[in-house]
Amino acid sequence: MFIDTFGSEVFNDEMMEKYLSKDTFKKLEDIRKEGAPMDQQIAEEVAAGMMKWAIEKGATHYTHWFQPMTGITAEKHESFLDMDKDGKPILEFSPKALIKGEADASSFPSGGMRATFEGRGYTVWDPTSYAFIRDKTLCIPTAFCSYTGAVLDKKTPLLRSMAVLNRQSLRILKLLGSDARYVYPTVGCEQEYFLINKEDYALRQDLNLTGRTLFGAMTPKGQILENHYYGSLRPRVKAYMEELNEELWALGIYSKTEHNEVAPCQHEMAPLFGRANVAADQNQMVMDIMQKTALKHDFVCLLHEKPFKGINGSGKHNNWALSTDTGVNLLKPGKEPEKNLSFLLFLAATIKAVDDYQDLLRISCATASNDNRLGGDEAPPAIISIFLGTDLEECVDSIISGKEVGSSKSHYSHLAENMPEFKTDKTDRNRTSPFAFTGNRFEFRMPGSSVNVSCANFMLNTIVADALGSFADELENANDFESAAFALVKRELEAHKRIIFNGNGYGDEWVVEAEKRGLLNIPSTPEAYSHYDDEKNIALLERNGVLCREEIISRKLIGLNEYVKVVNIEAKTMIQMSDKEFIPAILEYSNELAKGIVKKEKLAPISTRVEKQILSDIEENLGKLYDNKTELETLLKNEPSDPLIAGDYLYKNVIPVMNRLREAVDTLEGLVGKDYWPIPDYTDILFYT
Ligand code: ADP
Ligand code: MG
Repeated sequence: MFIDTFGSEVFNDEMMEKYLSKDTFKKLEDIRKEGAPMDQQIAEEVAAGMMKWAIEKGATHYTHWFQPMTGITAEKHESFLDMDKDGKPILEFSPKALIKGEADASSFPSGGMRATFEGRGYTVWDPTSYAFIRDKTLCIPTAFCSYTGAVLDKKTPLLRSMAVLNRQSLRILKLLGSDARYVYPTVGCEQEYFLINKEDYALRQDLNLTGRTLFGAMTPKGQILENHYYGSLRPRVKAYMEELNEELWALGIYSKTEHNEVAPCQHEMAPLFGRANVAADQNQMVMDIMQKTALKHDFVCLLHEKPFKGINGSGKHNNWALSTDTGVNLLKPGKEPEKNLSFLLFLAATIKAVDDYQDLLRISCATASNDNRLGGDEAPPAIISIFLGTDLEECVDSIISGKEVGSSKSHYSHLAENMPEFKTDKTDRNRTSPFAFTGNRFEFRMPGSSVNVSCANFMLNTIVADALGSFADELENANDFESAAFALVKRELEAHKRIIFNGNGYGDEWVVEAEKRGLLNIPSTPEAYSHYDDEKNIALLERNGVLCREEIISRKLIGLNEYVKVVNIEAKTMIQMSDKEFIPAILEYSNELAKGIVKKEKLAPISTRVEKQILSDIEENLGKLYDNKTELETLLKNEPSDPLIAGDYLYKNVIPVMNRLREAVDTLEGLVGKDYWPIPDYTDILFYT
């Protein structure tokens, strides 16, 4: 049965118990769960146990598996094979090799923290995440830093933020009389993706080089019929999902939900939630396995946030809550939330945090690709706000006003006599909010489908930890804890009420209203990144021991550099496709038309009115294509070299011309005969059988 092979490729608790001594197993568990300090001694036993297990499972190599600032995972494989002093082959995996690896850091982004000649970087074992086997290689999750110890990866700040969130939450819980020993954030990432045919992908340079279609006229059908969402799965897609699940389950990933998404060819997979750092690691694996499995089924899996213009893009909803070691979800409101002081304190801290650090949350989702998605009709706008639902909003209102407000209730519904009665939820959903309370957790909907979720989560953990810390500072000195805590909740909810918005986040009126409320609206990545090193943000991240000033500035540079590179690749791909593919094809077609006109006119009196009109429309748009392409070339030549300025330059000057170039090509696609068009169109790609 499939459940028997669940986790078979993971060095999990069960395997650790089998391959390690009781004492070491217990110590590792304490490190993983409670953040106990790492004892170097145990590495010896763990290395031996891990290797034995891995070799029995057929592994030949090991790798330190890490998450540099490129956003994807990196690995460098070493075999277990070594030579003993007599020149004979032996198997070897030393504790040193488990704990520390050396990687050439100079080829990974460091944001100026390291000159290129200072190449050394270290990968360091992260015992909080299980090792696993893929493709006969033992993968050891690690963090990555430079020779000087500066953080160069996505994982370290997440681990640090979890530690501070644990500390600050425990201070509050202690005041509440709880005997919880530790608190950790839980995360469940819903992963959206597209599956398209390999042959179509291969014929499109834009998909190959940028992961999205830079051209393409809308198909007559698009997603208008709304019949794809939750629709029955194509057999090929079903076969793909089956294999994907098998792979994920073997790696101990609880792949749970799968369905068709709104856009044609779009799908979603959601695993069961887990500890934030494990969920982040697993999401990296999910993305990798999704892409590799697709190839086996003659598909390509697109994780880009906006592969096709005019239909929905893909996000990665990040469900987030806080759990104690005793299994209590601190964001569960209970029957009477207005009296549940623990819930109210954690809720108020989250609301305060999101309001005070809207910019950091926006930065955590800022990429060139996600800019194409945010603010469209399918994703939250670039304004951060919180949806609480009617039930909780009434609770918040009653706390602020001090008046009892009738609370909304769940009710029983009965559709037909011979059907079972069912209970509704207390509150409806709001799909348009970037940060929505969904009953016992917050769903952060802004992250894009391709991002590493560590960033969104370390920001979230840190800002909430900071708010909890400030609450604890105040309440630890209070004479009467309860009344001081209720007063604090009331004060904070009142102070941060502006961030709560239960209406339609997609409407234009919200943009106006949000501005009135003084909320930030940051449409572009360069603008978002410009706030990263604002003094208040540096102070927050340093105060909580998550990132230092130098690391923040480096992240800002890395983010901006990446934006600049992505937009440049896109612009250059557009130029190349125009020169090498579209212009020749359009000229060929118009030549044929012209020849036809001449031929027909020789046979007068046959009319050539239609051909001439088409030819003149083509001429007009070909002119636009050429002029915009030339303008794009000139703009790229004059691009400032400083990424701090270049990002804004690209956003304001280059992207509008790219859009105009696309418009001309997409119009031409409609005018030129299908057989002449050099690449598969949207109908070919999206409506395969
Ligand atoms: P929907 O699309 O309706 O929002 P899904 O079932 O697709 O719901 O995804 C919900 C995600 O939220 C799942 O990954 C689920 O495990 C996760 N989740 C549920 N409870 C929590 C929690 N307490 N903390 C974090 N994530 C949670
Ligand atoms: Mg969801």
